[in-house]
Order: sequence, then C-alpha cells, then structure tokens
Amino acid sequence: MGGWETYVRKVEPYVPGEQPKHKVIKLNTNENPYPPSPKVQKIIDEFDAQQLRLYPDPEVSELIAAIAKNKGLDKEQVFVGVGSDDVLAMSFLTFFGSEQPILFPDITYSFYDVWAELFHIPYEQIPLQEDFRICVDDYKRKNGGIVIPNPNAPTGIAESLDAIEEIIAANPDSVVIIDEAYVDFGTKSAQELLKTYENLLVVQTFSKSRSLAGSRIGYAMGSKKLIAYLNDCKYSFNSYTMDRLTIQVGKASMEDEPYFTEQVHRIIETREWAKEQLHKLGFDFPDSKANFIFARHKEIAAEDIFAALKQRNIYVRYFKKTRIDNYLRITIGTKEEMEQLMTALQEILQEA
Ligand SMILES: *Cc1c(COP(=O)(O)O)cnc(C)c1O
Repeated sequence: MGGWETYVRKVEPYVPGEQPKHKVIKLNTNENPYPPSPKVQKIIDEFDAQQLRLYPDPEVSELIAAIAKNKGLDKEQVFVGVGSDDVLAMSFLTFFGSEQPILFPDITYSFYDVWAELFHIPYEQIPLQEDFRICVDDYKRKNGGIVIPNPNAPTGIAESLDAIEEIIAANPDSVVIIDEAYVDFGTKSAQELLKTYENLLVVQTFSKSRSLAGSRIGYAMGSKKLIAYLNDCKYSFNSYTMDRLTIQVGKASMEDEPYFTEQVHRIIETREWAKEQLHKLGFDFPDSKANFIFARHKEIAAEDIFAALKQRNIYVRYFKKTRIDNYLRITIGTKEEMEQLMTALQEILQEA
C-alpha cells in the first residue's frame, strides 16, 4: 500500500452479532425480549415532529436529571452517551493517555481492544483463570488504566464488590472503568464506591435491562472531576449526541421503576429455569448473573449446535476464538422462546 493509503487510520472493526431480516428466535445479541415501558410508547405516540426543527439540548439535562434522581447522585456526576459503546469509547479517549498499557481480561467484551487500537492506546489482555474468574492480583501492576466488565461478557460471571474494590484501591493513579451492562440482572453495582474513589467510572446502559437497545442510551457515573473531563472531550467531538425524542424516551424509561423491576425479575426467573434445563441436557456453564448463559455441551461441539439451531431459525452467539470456541452464548428470551430452544436442543442432541 502506498500513496494516500499510507496515512489512512487502519483498524479491524468490531463485529456485532447478526441482525437477521427474517423472523427468528433471536437469542444472539443480549437484547431484552420484552417491550420497553408503556410510558416510552406514550412518549413516542405523542411526539411532535415540529420539535425536530431545533437542535436538541446539548447537555441532555432532562435525562441526566432523571438518571441522577434514580441513582441518588448529583447531576454533575452523570454523563450520557449514544449507547454505552459511545460512553466507553469517549472514556478511552479521555482517560487512557498514558504510555503504560491499559489492562483488561483476555476473554471479555470484544470492543475494548478495538477502541485501544483505534486510539493507539497500548493495552495488555490479562488471562482469566482456568474457571474464567478474574485474579485480582493481576491488576496490581503498573498500568495506564483498567476496564473490567462486571458481570463479565461473554461468561456472565459476576465478581464480588470486595474484589472490584481491591482493584480500584490498588490503582489510585489510573482511571478504573467498571462496565456494568448486565448489572441489573443480579449483581451489586460499584456505584456505592463512588463516594470513596475519585478515579472510578461506572458505566451502565438502557440497552439490556430497559429494553432500549434500538434507542442507543448509555451513561457513566463518577466523580464530578471525571465527568467534567468526559464532557470536555465530548464537546470537542460532537455536542449534540442525543436526539430530542431519545432524551424523552430515556427519561420516561428511567422514571418507570415498577415496570423495570418486573421485567428484570421475569428474565432472572427464566434464566434460573433455563440453567436447570440446560444441565439436564448435558450442558455446563459458569453461573451467570447476566441475561445470557455461556454454555458448552459435554459431547457435541458448540459450532455444530450453533449451525443446527440456526437451521431451525434459532440464533445464538458463537465466538470462534481460543479458549471459548466450544461455548455458545445464549441470551435469555421469553419463557416460550426458551422452551422452544430446549425442544430444539433435545432434537439436535438426539440426532447427533
Ligand atoms: C452490550 C454491551 C455494551 C454496549 O451496550 P450499548 O448498547 O452500546 O449500551 C457494553 N459493554 C458490554 C459488556 C456489553 O455487553
């Protein structure tokens, strides 16, 4: 490659899960099987297109106020972005300027290394232990920042808040990001540590537990100092990140706590039922606290099960990657969808 191509920023992009155009049982991208709050529907039904003539509020004040109120934080402690992917990318850009490598697990959300490459941030992927758990002592070395998802993806394993705190406490000279995309499905949030640690950023999303993956809303919670730095970078990049309708949608969702709690509990209940069923079918898996189960079969290869399910129009996620290429990541759907999955698995295992 020569000429102008020499100076192109070359990256190997993140590959999102498939979004098939035909109707399938979709258990491959950890979306929520239930609709968003009826209050969200009402906002959309009543939205006046006239409003779109004007730019949206660059400060996203109404949504930030709703999040801050729900979480018991000051408004200056909340940052909002277009999905937590946007929040995380902005955080990498803002906080990871060291020459030292940033640290994250080898098996984790596969966007972290993509952002590190994109922004030319040195990084080191720390191998998880044999059982896919994090070894806290591995994060007590010189570094330029740390990202830990809790629960981790795609394993579903949640680490204790004590373990998370030990990592933060050991790294006062780095920003530590805890990516809590799945926290609402039964893990203790690191939010309570914010009062102790100025260098902690907790990132959450509306995509999974609030059924709003299509709206793209994510947020970060941190010290006022961290959030101010994030805003400086955001305003240097794109000031109007969130559109007018989405701001109202997010606010309505955040304000409907009873609906949120009910949906999340339904998913947890179905997850626990699915664990029993998968065990009976000969699968094993780490104990998941997320809205998916990361499972392998004791006899049949994951790749074969993945293909056979796809043929039956049931989509799950398969990563052809060392250490995890015999696992399937199965999103928790409705009880009915999960029953259909179990029936299909039973057939596939019998035929094999
Ligand atoms: C889904 C997910 C995200 C991104 O979600 P958004 O839809 O961009 O909010 C971030 N981190 C992890 C670990 C995820 O699984």
